[in-house]
Amino acid sequence: MTDISVTWTPNQVRTLVQRLLRWFSQHARNLPWRHTRDPYALWIAEVMLQQTRVNTVIPYWQHWIQTIPDIPTLARTRQDQLRKLWAGLGYYRRLENLHRAAKLILKHHHGRFPDRYEDILALPGIGRYTAGAIASTAFNLPTPVVDGNVARVLSRLTGRPLRAPSAAAWSLATQLVQQAARHKPIPLQPLAPPGRPRSAPLCPPCSALNQSLMELGATVCLPAVPRCHDCPLQTLCTYRHSSQPDPAPTRNHIPTTPRHLRVYLVRHNGRWLLHQRPANQVNAGFWELPATETNHVQPHSGHFFTNLDPWFEPLPDQPGLRLTHHITRHRYLVEARFARLKQPWPGGRWLTPRQIQNRPLTRLTQKILHHLGVLPANPNAPLAPLQPNKKNLCLPRHTA
Ligand code: SF4
Repeated sequence: MTDISVTWTPNQVRTLVQRLLRWFSQHARNLPWRHTRDPYALWIAEVMLQQTRVNTVIPYWQHWIQTIPDIPTLARTRQDQLRKLWAGLGYYRRLENLHRAAKLILKHHHGRFPDRYEDILALPGIGRYTAGAIASTAFNLPTPVVDGNVARVLSRLTGRPLRAPSAAAWSLATQLVQQAARHKPIPLQPLAPPGRPRSAPLCPPCSALNQSLMELGATVCLPAVPRCHDCPLQTLCTYRHSSQPDPAPTRNHIPTTPRHLRVYLVRHNGRWLLHQRPANQVNAGFWELPATETNHVQPHSGHFFTNLDPWFEPLPDQPGLRLTHHITRHRYLVEARFARLKQPWPGGRWLTPRQIQNRPLTRLTQKILHHLGVLPANPNAPLAPLQPNKKNLCLPRHTA
């Protein structure tokens, strides 16, 4: 039920919306998907942005849109080809949902992305937030969005702790976007061609309002230390003018106990031993190096084998490398060791570097093989070189 004590007066709503739109017109980040209103392109961007940072998504989105430019192409592209485009982005369930949704759009909407909120929400992999974001950015519908960033801004503005799923947060966001619908489109000045400020692209008001809230949370109303001096809402903000503790919801507890993972680096005549993850597992269809968890104090994640000792023996005279890696909420301390094969490993395939390059790889395998020099730099997902330090200790490099 909506918390009546956190609604705004019409005057407050008008002022908030005016300030947010004016601020966004001047400070919108120049992101590639802000130059289009193609619902398909915006859908791909929204799905890629789920759980993934903007800077990581940009090269993936650009490459995807060049390669898979529309819904019919997506629907008929094979899963293994899609996995190659997605490899390294993680949360691969998103990819399966995109593929299923494209086929449904082809079947039920003649290949055109639906323009009704209810139809968007009915697609696989699309929840209330993503449906609201696509409906407002592509079709200028007054549909609200509330994610962690927006919830933080709303909490601090009202001085009340409002989590993203709360009815009160959605109600406030609805008030704002419905008011925005009365405005004209706004020019996005940072997106104007150099020296031509009058050619700034126009952004429909519902789209601009939703994006302004998300942008404010991502760039100004930061989780640890908000940059209130740069905030267009500072005179209206309860938290800014109170001595109360920060009402913004804190992140869910993330387990800090690391899990230990051993990866076996087995090569023979210039080929490396990998296997493809089976259909019924996480990251199904992706290729990876043999890997096993070596501390099983916590419930097994289902990502890796429990015991590969019968097949692999580390080579004591060949150091490997150590790194940290995150899979969903888990932090893994990874030890990659060169090893010999004691007996044929069921499901294992010997692959040349070129064959490896042409297969979709899990993020961890991609990371290790990049570091070993087996894979060249990936133009889709440039990786920062691993720096030796206490947390991320790299032993001497080896090449294939
Ligand atoms: S004034 Fe500060 S705390 Fe309030 S919304 Fe702006 S950045 Fe956040």
